[in-house]
Amino acid sequence: MKKQRAILTSTVLSAILLTTSVPALAHPGRTDSDGGHTCRTNCEKWCLQPSKYHYHNADGSVRRVNEQPTEQESSTPEPAQTWDQAPSPPPAPAWQPANVKVKLDDQEPVTANGRTLVPMRRILESLGAQLSWDQPTQSVTATKDGVTILLTVGSKTAYKNGTPVTLDQAPLIVNGRTVVPARFVVEAFNGDVKWDDATRTVYIFSPGRKLGILKHADKHPDKVVTVPPTEPGNKMAYVHFIDVGQADSIYIQLPNHNDILIDGGNRADGQKVVDYLKAQGVDDLEAVIATHPHEDHIGGLPDVLQAYQVDSFYMPNAVTTTRTFEDLLIAVKENHAKTIVAKAGMKLEVPGAEEVILAPEIGDSDDLNNSSVVLKLNYGQTSFLFTGDAENLSEVQMLSNGYDVSADVLKVGHHGSQYSTSKGFLDNVKPKYAVISVGAGNEYGHPAESTLKLLQDAGVPVYRTDKDGTVVVTTDGASIFMSTQK
Ligand SMILES: [Zn+2]
Ligand SMILES: [Zn+2]
Repeated sequence: MKKQRAILTSTVLSAILLTTSVPALAHPGRTDSDGGHTCRTNCEKWCLQPSKYHYHNADGSVRRVNEQPTEQESSTPEPAQTWDQAPSPPPAPAWQPANVKVKLDDQEPVTANGRTLVPMRRILESLGAQLSWDQPTQSVTATKDGVTILLTVGSKTAYKNGTPVTLDQAPLIVNGRTVVPARFVVEAFNGDVKWDDATRTVYIFSPGRKLGILKHADKHPDKVVTVPPTEPGNKMAYVHFIDVGQADSIYIQLPNHNDILIDGGNRADGQKVVDYLKAQGVDDLEAVIATHPHEDHIGGLPDVLQAYQVDSFYMPNAVTTTRTFEDLLIAVKENHAKTIVAKAGMKLEVPGAEEVILAPEIGDSDDLNNSSVVLKLNYGQTSFLFTGDAENLSEVQMLSNGYDVSADVLKVGHHGSQYSTSKGFLDNVKPKYAVISVGAGNEYGHPAESTLKLLQDAGVPVYRTDKDGTVVVTTDGASIFMSTQK
């Protein structure tokens, strides 16, 4: 945030040695001595009968008694549930993958002749089906696990594995998008659909998913909610904008345990970031990027470096004299991570995606924000731009260097400050979604009204950690799912 005059040291890593200790992990709590408990509230949310004794798996999903815990925890709901009461979120849940909610912001479900129709592409991709659209015949084919269905716009005849099935309602085109009957599509792939009239919410259950429990879209009652698949074979990648208040910490989870962390929040956030990574099953970190030496970016990194083996540690050629920065250098040294001075044009060598550094051109200890390491991540056809606290100067530099800054998801620079995200830069990024990592009621007035207006005028949906909590982007390299903690 603030610019500090820094003394340039001759080497980036100084040889200061201190003893350090690893703090104890927080206890999750609220279970009995057997590690289980009885469902008392919101049981339908967890697909449990009231008073049902159950355990929680490490990933937050529910394991009922008399069931074997498996990797492929089925989430098929138990029969005889009532849906006349709007479920509310579970009581004060810790952030767990099972709390994922997916907002569908392009097309709400529609009702025609008493039948619920949902956006074709989103529903099929959410179910993990491969789909192909044939424009001349206006028909869609979707395949998953040996099941193939074919639907045609305007036709009540659908096909499941070549056998005709008569639909109550034909697929339609609404607002230029194809909507298909939810029940036929979901049940064809052995899922289940519940429609809650009171809240106008469609619940979609898909079996064989580790994270198959769907949550009530309390803030978005008209949206379909579902949880994207997480099977290892699906090659999903996840980008977690961890809610660390007025700070940045972004965890990029690529397939096959290839993990990148950008920044670690404030000093007080270190253990929270470590706990979050542990909850995601992180074994080690292939790359850690300290975007620039401000405390809200590097403060929590020493805890991370003590908890995890890091292969490569990237930082700009910019230094400061703060104790926080010194602690970081010590932690990097003790970790034995390979230290790399990040410069525009470099690539990270983490497998599974392409990661290109677009800034800084040169580091400047008098302008730490504009020394921020800016990373572009290309995953399949999807792309992400992580800008640290880079301001207009760095943005202009990236554009004049001719870098392709376009990205589906933009981490808005410098917590939404008015000195970042110039219109020219935003026009070139052309994001589909923007994420602002920012603390509620922060003293800097972030995000700036002007930045929010710019994004709004550009029609870019904005996700904010102060309002949405942790924001997780899920992608299979083609589609992007935005989900939020709150
Ligand atoms: Zn900064
Ligand atoms: Zn910052």
